[in-house]
Amino acid sequence: MQNNPVPRSSYDVVVIGAGPAGAISAALLKSAGLDVAVFERTRFPRFVIGESLLPICNDVLKEAGLFERVKAQGYQVKTGAVFLRGDEVCEYDFSEQFTDGSTWTWQVPRAEFDEVLIEGVVERGVPVFFEHSVTDVEVGAAPLVTVEDAAGDQTEIHCKFVVDASGYGRVLPRLLDLDRPSAQANRRSLFTHVKGDQRPPGPDSGRIWIIVHEAGAWLWIIPFSDGRTSVGVVAQPEFYDAFPDDPEACLRAVIKSDPNAAGRLADAELQFEPVSIESYSVGIKQLFGDGYCVVGNATEFLDPVFSSGVSLAMRSASRASDVIIRQLNGNDVDWQTEYSDFMARGIDTFRTFVNAWYDETLHRIFFAPEINPNLKRMICSALAGYVWDTDNPFVGSHERKLSQLVRIIEASEGT
Ligand SMILES: Cc1cc2nc3c(=O)[nH]c(=O)nc-3n(C[C@H](O)[C@H](O)[C@H](O)COP(=O)(O)OP(=O)(O)OC[C@H]3O[C@@H](n4cnc5c(N)ncnc54)[C@H](O)[C@@H]3O)c2cc1C
Repeated sequence: MQNNPVPRSSYDVVVIGAGPAGAISAALLKSAGLDVAVFERTRFPRFVIGESLLPICNDVLKEAGLFERVKAQGYQVKTGAVFLRGDEVCEYDFSEQFTDGSTWTWQVPRAEFDEVLIEGVVERGVPVFFEHSVTDVEVGAAPLVTVEDAAGDQTEIHCKFVVDASGYGRVLPRLLDLDRPSAQANRRSLFTHVKGDQRPPGPDSGRIWIIVHEAGAWLWIIPFSDGRTSVGVVAQPEFYDAFPDDPEACLRAVIKSDPNAAGRLADAELQFEPVSIESYSVGIKQLFGDGYCVVGNATEFLDPVFSSGVSLAMRSASRASDVIIRQLNGNDVDWQTEYSDFMARGIDTFRTFVNAWYDETLHRIFFAPEINPNLKRMICSALAGYVWDTDNPFVGSHERKLSQLVRIIEASEGT
Protein backbone atom coordinates (compact mmCIF):
# COMPACT_ATOMS: atom_id res chain seq x y z
CA MET A 1 0.00 0.00 0.00
CA GLN A 2 1.48 3.33 -1.07
CA ASN A 3 0.67 6.47 0.85
CA ASN A 4 3.71 8.32 1.97
CA PRO A 5 3.11 12.04 2.00
CA VAL A 6 5.55 14.25 3.89
CA PRO A 7 4.53 14.84 7.51
CA ARG A 8 3.61 18.37 8.56
CA SER A 9 5.07 19.85 11.74
CA SER A 10 1.80 19.75 13.67
CA TYR A 11 -1.54 17.93 13.93
CA ASP A 12 -4.35 17.88 16.47
CA VAL A 13 -3.79 14.20 17.19
CA VAL A 14 -0.91 11.82 16.41
CA VAL A 15 -1.81 8.10 16.34
CA ILE A 16 1.07 5.64 16.72
CA GLY A 17 0.41 2.39 14.81
CA ALA A 18 -1.96 1.48 11.97
CA GLY A 19 -3.38 -1.81 13.34
CA PRO A 20 -7.08 -2.12 14.25
CA ALA A 21 -6.76 0.14 17.32
CA GLY A 22 -4.97 2.84 15.30
CA ALA A 23 -7.37 2.59 12.36
CA ILE A 24 -10.51 2.83 14.52
CA SER A 25 -9.04 5.76 16.48
CA ALA A 26 -8.08 7.64 13.32
CA ALA A 27 -11.46 7.01 11.64
CA LEU A 28 -13.46 8.27 14.62
CA LEU A 29 -11.23 11.28 15.34
CA LYS A 30 -11.32 12.33 11.69
CA SER A 31 -15.14 11.97 11.60
CA ALA A 32 -15.30 14.46 14.47
CA GLY A 33 -13.38 17.00 12.39
CA LEU A 34 -9.99 16.61 14.08
CA ASP A 35 -6.74 16.91 12.17
CA VAL A 36 -5.23 13.46 12.74
CA ALA A 37 -2.16 11.66 11.35
CA VAL A 38 -1.08 8.03 11.73
CA PHE A 39 2.56 6.91 11.93
CA GLU A 40 3.24 3.22 11.24
CA ARG A 41 6.61 1.53 11.61
CA THR A 42 6.08 -1.09 8.89
CA ARG A 43 4.79 -1.12 5.32
CA PHE A 44 1.37 -2.77 4.89
CA PRO A 45 0.36 -5.49 4.27
CA ARG A 46 2.25 -6.98 7.20
CA PHE A 47 1.61 -10.23 9.06
CA VAL A 48 0.23 -10.13 12.58
CA ILE A 49 -1.52 -12.88 14.55
CA GLY A 50 -5.07 -12.42 15.91
CA GLU A 51 -7.47 -13.64 13.24
CA SER A 52 -10.64 -14.58 15.05
CA LEU A 53 -12.88 -11.59 15.76
CA LEU A 54 -15.83 -11.36 18.20
CA PRO A 55 -19.31 -10.03 17.32
CA ILE A 56 -18.70 -6.83 19.31
CA CYS A 57 -16.14 -5.90 16.61
CA ASN A 58 -19.04 -5.52 14.13
CA ASP A 59 -20.57 -2.84 16.38
CA VAL A 60 -17.33 -0.85 16.55
CA LEU A 61 -16.72 -1.22 12.80
CA LYS A 62 -20.22 0.20 12.19
CA GLU A 63 -19.59 3.09 14.59
CA ALA A 64 -16.35 3.91 12.73
CA GLY A 65 -18.03 3.61 9.30
CA LEU A 66 -15.78 0.71 8.27
CA PHE A 67 -18.25 -2.20 8.49
CA GLU A 68 -19.43 -2.24 4.85
CA ARG A 69 -15.85 -2.08 3.66
CA VAL A 70 -14.93 -5.18 5.65
CA LYS A 71 -18.17 -6.95 4.64
CA ALA A 72 -17.32 -6.45 0.97
CA GLN A 73 -14.16 -8.56 1.37
CA GLY A 74 -16.09 -11.85 1.71
CA TYR A 75 -14.17 -13.05 4.76
CA GLN A 76 -15.21 -16.30 6.41
CA VAL A 77 -18.26 -15.61 8.56
CA LYS A 78 -17.83 -16.68 12.18
CA THR A 79 -21.06 -17.78 13.82
CA GLY A 80 -19.54 -19.22 16.98
CA ALA A 81 -16.87 -21.67 18.08
CA VAL A 82 -16.55 -25.39 18.67
CA PHE A 83 -14.61 -26.59 21.72
CA LEU A 84 -13.30 -30.16 21.57
CA ARG A 85 -11.64 -32.43 24.12
CA GLY A 86 -11.09 -35.96 22.83
CA ASP A 87 -14.54 -37.07 21.74
CA GLU A 88 -16.36 -34.43 23.81
CA VAL A 89 -17.75 -31.45 21.90
CA CYS A 90 -19.26 -28.14 23.01
CA GLU A 91 -20.61 -25.58 20.57
CA TYR A 92 -21.28 -21.91 21.18
CA ASP A 93 -23.46 -20.21 18.61
CA PHE A 94 -23.54 -16.41 18.67
CA SER A 95 -27.19 -16.42 17.54
CA GLU A 96 -28.10 -17.78 20.99
CA GLN A 97 -27.19 -14.89 23.26
CA PHE A 98 -28.46 -13.07 26.32
CA THR A 99 -27.28 -9.64 25.12
CA ASP A 100 -29.01 -8.00 22.19
CA GLY A 101 -25.94 -7.57 19.99
CA SER A 102 -24.33 -8.85 16.78
CA THR A 103 -24.82 -12.56 16.24
CA TRP A 104 -21.84 -13.21 13.97
CA THR A 105 -18.53 -11.76 12.85
CA TRP A 106 -15.52 -12.83 10.72
CA GLN A 107 -12.33 -14.87 10.68
CA VAL A 108 -9.77 -12.68 8.94
CA PRO A 109 -6.20 -12.99 7.64
CA ARG A 110 -4.88 -9.96 9.49
CA ALA A 111 -2.42 -8.76 6.86
CA GLU A 112 -5.34 -8.16 4.48
CA PHE A 113 -7.88 -7.10 7.13
CA ASP A 114 -5.62 -4.46 8.68
CA GLU A 115 -4.82 -3.08 5.24
CA VAL A 116 -8.53 -2.88 4.36
CA LEU A 117 -9.20 -0.90 7.55
CA ILE A 118 -6.35 1.55 7.12
CA GLU A 119 -7.14 2.06 3.42
CA GLY A 120 -10.63 3.13 4.57
CA VAL A 121 -8.98 5.64 6.89
CA VAL A 122 -6.73 6.96 4.10
CA GLU A 123 -9.78 7.35 1.84
CA ARG A 124 -11.26 9.71 4.41
CA GLY A 125 -8.27 11.98 4.03
CA VAL A 126 -6.18 10.89 7.02
CA PRO A 127 -2.45 10.93 6.19
CA VAL A 128 -0.90 7.58 7.10
CA PHE A 129 2.91 7.56 7.14
CA PHE A 130 4.17 4.02 6.61
CA GLU A 131 7.77 3.12 7.47
CA HIS A 132 7.76 5.94 9.99
CA SER A 133 8.71 4.76 13.49
CA VAL A 134 7.88 6.82 16.52
CA THR A 135 11.12 6.90 18.49
CA ASP A 136 10.38 9.45 21.19
CA VAL A 137 7.41 11.26 22.74
CA GLU A 138 7.44 14.19 25.14
CA VAL A 139 4.02 14.03 26.77
CA GLY A 140 2.32 16.96 28.54
CA ALA A 141 0.04 19.84 27.61
CA ALA A 142 1.74 20.21 24.19
CA PRO A 143 3.16 16.78 23.22
CA LEU A 144 6.15 16.49 20.88
CA VAL A 145 6.53 13.30 18.84
CA THR A 146 9.77 12.27 17.12
CA VAL A 147 9.42 10.03 14.07
CA GLU A 148 12.11 8.38 12.01
CA ASP A 149 11.57 7.39 8.38
CA ALA A 150 13.09 4.41 6.53
CA ALA A 151 16.12 6.52 5.53
CA GLY A 152 16.80 7.33 9.19
CA ASP A 153 15.70 10.96 8.90
CA GLN A 154 13.97 12.34 11.98
CA THR A 155 11.07 14.80 12.15
CA GLU A 156 9.55 16.47 15.21
CA ILE A 157 5.79 16.80 15.26
CA HIS A 158 3.76 18.95 17.64
CA CYS A 159 0.24 17.93 18.58
CA LYS A 160 -2.45 18.36 21.19
CA PHE A 161 -2.82 14.67 21.95
CA VAL A 162 -1.03 11.34 21.30
CA VAL A 163 -2.86 8.01 20.93
CA ASP A 164 -0.51 5.07 21.40
CA ALA A 165 -1.93 2.18 19.34
CA SER A 166 1.47 0.54 18.81
CA GLY A 167 0.42 -2.96 19.92
CA TYR A 168 3.38 -5.19 20.72
CA GLY A 169 5.63 -2.15 19.99
CA ARG A 170 4.42 -0.67 23.34
CA VAL A 171 5.88 2.75 22.54
CA LEU A 172 4.58 4.80 25.48
CA PRO A 173 4.63 1.96 28.03
CA ARG A 174 8.36 1.59 27.27
CA LEU A 175 9.18 5.31 27.11
CA LEU A 176 7.19 6.16 30.25
CA ASP A 177 7.94 2.98 32.19
CA LEU A 178 4.27 1.95 32.29
CA ASP A 179 4.74 -1.83 31.85
CA ARG A 180 3.47 -4.03 34.63
CA PRO A 181 4.12 -7.78 34.73
CA SER A 182 1.09 -9.90 33.87
CA ALA A 183 -0.41 -12.27 36.42
CA GLN A 184 -0.88 -14.81 33.61
CA ALA A 185 1.54 -17.77 33.54
CA ASN A 186 4.23 -17.57 30.89
CA ARG A 187 2.97 -19.26 27.72
CA ARG A 188 4.39 -19.86 24.28
CA SER A 189 2.46 -20.04 21.05
CA LEU A 190 3.56 -21.63 17.77
CA PHE A 191 1.45 -20.97 14.68
CA THR A 192 1.29 -20.87 10.91
CA HIS A 193 -1.16 -20.91 8.00
CA VAL A 194 -1.83 -24.14 6.12
CA LYS A 195 -3.50 -25.37 2.97
CA GLY A 196 -5.11 -28.82 2.69
CA ASP A 197 -7.08 -28.68 5.95
CA GLN A 198 -9.72 -31.45 5.64
CA ARG A 199 -12.62 -29.34 6.88
CA PRO A 200 -15.84 -30.93 8.09
CA PRO A 201 -18.44 -31.05 5.30
CA GLY A 202 -21.43 -28.71 5.05
CA PRO A 203 -22.22 -25.62 7.11
CA ASP A 204 -19.67 -26.55 9.81
CA SER A 205 -16.75 -26.35 7.41
CA GLY A 206 -15.81 -22.79 8.37
CA ARG A 207 -16.24 -23.09 12.13
CA ILE A 208 -13.39 -22.37 14.48
CA TRP A 209 -12.14 -25.27 16.55
CA ILE A 210 -10.54 -24.80 19.95
CA ILE A 211 -9.04 -28.13 20.94
CA VAL A 212 -8.01 -29.11 24.47
CA HIS A 213 -4.82 -31.20 24.19
CA GLU A 214 -4.51 -33.88 26.88
CA ALA A 215 -1.01 -32.72 27.91
CA GLY A 216 -2.17 -29.25 29.04
CA ALA A 217 -2.05 -27.29 25.77
CA TRP A 218 -4.78 -26.05 23.47
CA LEU A 219 -4.84 -25.62 19.70
CA TRP A 220 -6.76 -23.32 17.40
CA ILE A 221 -7.95 -24.12 13.87
CA ILE A 222 -9.34 -21.04 12.11
CA PRO A 223 -10.53 -21.55 8.52
CA PHE A 224 -10.35 -18.56 6.13
CA SER A 225 -12.58 -18.05 3.09
CA ASP A 226 -9.62 -18.27 0.68
CA GLY A 227 -8.87 -21.93 1.49
CA ARG A 228 -6.09 -21.24 3.95
CA THR A 229 -6.46 -22.17 7.63
CA SER A 230 -4.68 -20.67 10.61
CA VAL A 231 -3.33 -23.30 13.02
CA GLY A 232 -1.66 -22.64 16.36
CA VAL A 233 -0.83 -24.19 19.69
CA VAL A 234 -0.60 -22.47 23.08
CA ALA A 235 1.06 -24.00 26.13
CA GLN A 236 3.49 -23.35 28.94
CA PRO A 237 7.07 -23.69 27.64
CA GLU A 238 7.63 -27.12 29.31
CA PHE A 239 4.94 -28.67 27.10
CA TYR A 240 7.23 -28.29 24.07
CA ASP A 241 10.06 -30.30 25.71
CA ALA A 242 8.33 -33.48 24.55
CA PHE A 243 8.43 -32.30 20.90
CA PRO A 244 11.21 -31.56 18.38
CA ASP A 245 12.98 -28.18 18.53
CA ASP A 246 12.53 -27.46 14.83
CA PRO A 247 9.35 -25.30 14.52
CA GLU A 248 7.78 -27.23 11.62
CA ALA A 249 8.58 -30.64 13.09
CA CYS A 250 7.29 -29.44 16.46
CA LEU A 251 3.95 -28.16 15.14
CA ARG A 252 3.44 -31.29 13.01
CA ALA A 253 4.21 -33.52 16.01
CA VAL A 254 1.80 -31.58 18.26
CA ILE A 255 -0.93 -31.91 15.60
CA LYS A 256 -0.22 -35.65 15.26
CA SER A 257 -0.47 -36.09 19.04
CA ASP A 258 -4.09 -34.90 19.18
CA PRO A 259 -6.79 -36.99 17.49
CA ASN A 260 -9.01 -34.02 16.56
CA ALA A 261 -6.19 -31.98 15.04
CA ALA A 262 -4.59 -34.99 13.34
CA GLY A 263 -7.94 -35.95 11.82
CA ARG A 264 -8.07 -32.85 9.63
CA LEU A 265 -4.50 -31.55 9.44
CA ALA A 266 -2.40 -34.70 8.89
CA ASP A 267 -1.62 -33.78 5.26
CA ALA A 268 -1.70 -30.00 5.60
CA GLU A 269 0.89 -27.97 3.68
CA LEU A 270 2.47 -25.27 5.83
CA GLN A 271 2.47 -21.86 4.15
CA PHE A 272 5.39 -20.51 6.18
CA GLU A 273 7.70 -21.73 8.93
CA PRO A 274 5.72 -21.66 12.20
CA VAL A 275 6.21 -18.46 14.18
CA SER A 276 6.89 -18.71 17.90
CA ILE A 277 5.81 -16.02 20.38
CA GLU A 278 6.46 -16.28 24.10
CA SER A 279 5.67 -14.12 27.16
CA TYR A 280 3.08 -12.08 25.28
CA SER A 281 0.82 -11.41 28.29
CA VAL A 282 1.58 -8.02 29.77
CA GLY A 283 -0.06 -5.46 32.07
CA ILE A 284 0.10 -1.68 32.29
CA LYS A 285 0.22 0.78 35.22
CA GLN A 286 -1.98 3.46 33.67
CA LEU A 287 -3.89 3.96 30.41
CA PHE A 288 -3.68 7.74 30.13
CA GLY A 289 -1.78 10.82 31.28
CA ASP A 290 -1.28 14.43 30.35
CA GLY A 291 -1.70 14.66 26.57
CA TYR A 292 -1.79 10.93 25.84
CA CYS A 293 -3.70 7.68 26.09
CA VAL A 294 -2.82 4.09 25.32
CA VAL A 295 -5.27 1.88 23.37
CA GLY A 296 -5.37 -1.69 22.02
CA ASN A 297 -2.71 -4.22 22.75
CA ALA A 298 -0.31 -1.52 23.89
CA THR A 299 -2.43 -1.47 27.08
CA GLU A 300 -2.79 -4.95 28.48
CA PHE A 301 -2.77 -8.28 26.67
CA LEU A 302 -4.36 -11.20 28.47
CA ASP A 303 -4.35 -14.32 26.36
CA PRO A 304 -5.49 -15.50 22.93
CA VAL A 305 -7.93 -18.22 24.05
CA PHE A 306 -11.17 -16.23 23.77
CA SER A 307 -10.06 -14.02 20.86
CA SER A 308 -10.52 -10.89 22.96
CA GLY A 309 -7.47 -9.00 21.60
CA VAL A 310 -8.86 -7.26 18.52
CA SER A 311 -12.22 -6.66 20.24
CA LEU A 312 -10.58 -4.94 23.20
CA ALA A 313 -8.29 -3.06 20.80
CA MET A 314 -11.25 -1.70 18.84
CA ARG A 315 -13.44 -1.02 21.87
CA SER A 316 -10.66 0.84 23.70
CA ALA A 317 -9.98 2.90 20.56
CA SER A 318 -13.64 3.87 20.24
CA ARG A 319 -14.00 4.70 23.93
CA ALA A 320 -10.77 6.74 24.06
CA SER A 321 -11.68 8.60 20.85
CA ASP A 322 -14.95 9.71 22.39
CA VAL A 323 -13.12 11.19 25.40
CA ILE A 324 -10.44 12.86 23.22
CA ILE A 325 -13.06 14.47 20.97
CA ARG A 326 -14.88 15.95 23.95
CA GLN A 327 -11.62 17.08 25.59
CA LEU A 328 -10.31 18.79 22.45
CA ASN A 329 -13.70 20.47 22.03
CA GLY A 330 -13.19 22.12 25.40
CA ASN A 331 -15.38 19.86 27.56
CA ASP A 332 -14.46 18.53 31.00
CA VAL A 333 -13.61 14.85 30.86
CA ASP A 334 -12.65 12.30 33.46
CA TRP A 335 -10.19 9.85 31.89
CA GLN A 336 -10.14 7.64 34.97
CA THR A 337 -13.85 6.85 35.11
CA GLU A 338 -14.74 7.35 31.45
CA TYR A 339 -11.85 5.34 30.01
CA SER A 340 -9.67 3.45 32.50
CA ASP A 341 -12.40 2.17 34.80
CA PHE A 342 -14.62 1.35 31.83
CA MET A 343 -11.91 -0.70 30.10
CA ALA A 344 -10.95 -2.40 33.37
CA ARG A 345 -14.52 -3.70 33.76
CA GLY A 346 -14.46 -5.44 30.37
CA ILE A 347 -10.90 -6.72 30.74
CA ASP A 348 -11.66 -8.11 34.21
CA THR A 349 -14.55 -10.17 32.84
CA PHE A 350 -12.31 -11.64 30.14
CA ARG A 351 -9.60 -12.22 32.77
CA THR A 352 -12.02 -14.32 34.83
CA PHE A 353 -12.93 -16.39 31.76
CA VAL A 354 -9.25 -16.82 30.77
CA ASN A 355 -8.31 -17.90 34.32
CA ALA A 356 -11.29 -20.26 34.38
CA TRP A 357 -10.09 -21.80 31.11
CA TYR A 358 -6.60 -22.51 32.44
CA ASP A 359 -7.76 -23.77 35.87
CA GLU A 360 -10.21 -25.94 33.92
CA THR A 361 -13.35 -24.53 35.56
CA LEU A 362 -14.59 -23.72 32.07
CA HIS A 363 -13.73 -27.19 30.77
CA ARG A 364 -16.13 -28.58 33.40
CA ILE A 365 -18.81 -26.17 32.21
CA PHE A 366 -18.20 -26.58 28.47
CA PHE A 367 -18.04 -30.36 28.56
CA ALA A 368 -20.77 -30.92 31.17
CA PRO A 369 -23.41 -33.37 29.89
CA GLU A 370 -26.10 -30.72 30.27
CA ILE A 371 -26.22 -26.99 30.90
CA ASN A 372 -29.23 -24.72 31.38
CA PRO A 373 -29.75 -22.99 27.97
CA ASN A 374 -30.39 -19.60 29.63
CA LEU A 375 -27.05 -19.76 31.44
CA LYS A 376 -25.35 -20.85 28.22
CA ARG A 377 -26.78 -17.79 26.45
CA MET A 378 -25.28 -15.56 29.17
CA ILE A 379 -21.85 -17.20 28.82
CA CYS A 380 -22.16 -16.91 25.05
CA SER A 381 -22.67 -13.13 25.26
CA ALA A 382 -19.55 -12.70 27.38
CA LEU A 383 -17.65 -14.82 24.81
CA ALA A 384 -19.11 -12.61 22.03
CA GLY A 385 -17.36 -9.64 23.65
CA TYR A 386 -20.38 -8.07 25.36
CA VAL A 387 -18.40 -7.72 28.58
CA TRP A 388 -19.92 -4.37 29.50
CA ASP A 389 -23.51 -5.65 29.68
CA THR A 390 -23.79 -5.79 33.46
CA ASP A 391 -27.40 -7.01 33.17
CA ASN A 392 -25.74 -10.30 32.20
CA PRO A 393 -24.98 -12.05 35.52
CA PHE A 394 -21.93 -13.74 33.92
CA VAL A 395 -20.59 -10.20 33.32
CA GLY A 396 -21.91 -8.34 36.37
CA SER A 397 -20.79 -11.09 38.78
CA HIS A 398 -18.45 -13.04 36.50
CA GLU A 399 -16.36 -14.82 39.11
CA ARG A 400 -19.23 -15.72 41.42
CA LYS A 401 -21.49 -16.98 38.63
CA LEU A 402 -18.83 -19.23 37.07
CA SER A 403 -17.95 -20.79 40.46
CA GLN A 404 -21.63 -21.21 41.28
CA LEU A 405 -22.29 -22.94 37.95
CA VAL A 406 -19.41 -25.37 38.47
CA ARG A 407 -20.74 -26.23 41.92
CA ILE A 408 -24.19 -26.94 40.41
CA ILE A 409 -22.61 -29.14 37.71
CA GLU A 410 -20.51 -31.00 40.29
CA ALA A 411 -23.55 -31.54 42.52
CA SER A 412 -25.57 -32.91 39.60
CA GLU A 413 -22.69 -35.23 38.64
CA GLY A 414 -22.28 -36.30 42.27
CA THR A 415 -18.58 -35.23 42.38
C1 LIG B 1 -0.69 -16.22 19.89
C2 LIG B 1 -1.69 -15.11 19.77
C3 LIG B 1 -2.92 -15.35 19.15
C4 LIG B 1 -3.88 -14.34 19.07
N1 LIG B 1 -5.11 -14.61 18.53
C5 LIG B 1 -6.07 -13.65 18.54
C6 LIG B 1 -7.36 -13.91 17.99
O1 LIG B 1 -7.66 -15.00 17.49
N2 LIG B 1 -8.26 -12.90 18.02
C7 LIG B 1 -7.98 -11.67 18.55
O2 LIG B 1 -8.85 -10.79 18.59
N3 LIG B 1 -6.75 -11.39 19.03
C8 LIG B 1 -5.80 -12.34 19.04
N4 LIG B 1 -4.55 -12.05 19.50
C9 LIG B 1 -4.28 -10.66 19.94
C10 LIG B 1 -4.02 -9.74 18.74
O3 LIG B 1 -2.81 -10.10 18.12
C11 LIG B 1 -3.92 -8.29 19.23
O4 LIG B 1 -4.80 -8.08 20.29
C12 LIG B 1 -4.25 -7.25 18.16
O5 LIG B 1 -3.38 -7.39 17.07
C13 LIG B 1 -4.16 -5.86 18.76
O6 LIG B 1 -4.33 -4.88 17.77
P1 LIG B 1 -3.62 -3.45 17.95
O7 LIG B 1 -4.18 -2.56 16.89
O8 LIG B 1 -3.69 -3.02 19.36
O9 LIG B 1 -2.08 -3.76 17.68
P2 LIG B 1 -1.33 -4.32 16.37
O10 LIG B 1 -2.26 -5.07 15.50
O11 LIG B 1 -0.13 -5.06 16.89
O12 LIG B 1 -0.87 -3.01 15.61
C14 LIG B 1 0.10 -2.15 16.15
C15 LIG B 1 0.84 -1.46 15.02
O13 LIG B 1 1.75 -0.52 15.59
C16 LIG B 1 2.94 -0.50 14.83
N5 LIG B 1 4.05 0.02 15.63
C17 LIG B 1 4.71 -0.61 16.63
N6 LIG B 1 5.69 0.18 17.12
C18 LIG B 1 5.63 1.34 16.40
C19 LIG B 1 6.39 2.55 16.42
N7 LIG B 1 7.42 2.70 17.27
N8 LIG B 1 6.07 3.52 15.56
C20 LIG B 1 5.03 3.37 14.67
N9 LIG B 1 4.30 2.23 14.61
C21 LIG B 1 4.58 1.25 15.47
C22 LIG B 1 3.13 -1.97 14.45
O14 LIG B 1 3.95 -2.10 13.31
C23 LIG B 1 1.69 -2.42 14.19
O15 LIG B 1 1.33 -2.32 12.83
C24 LIG B 1 -3.58 -13.05 19.59
C25 LIG B 1 -2.35 -12.80 20.18
C26 LIG B 1 -1.41 -13.82 20.29
C27 LIG B 1 -0.10 -13.55 20.95
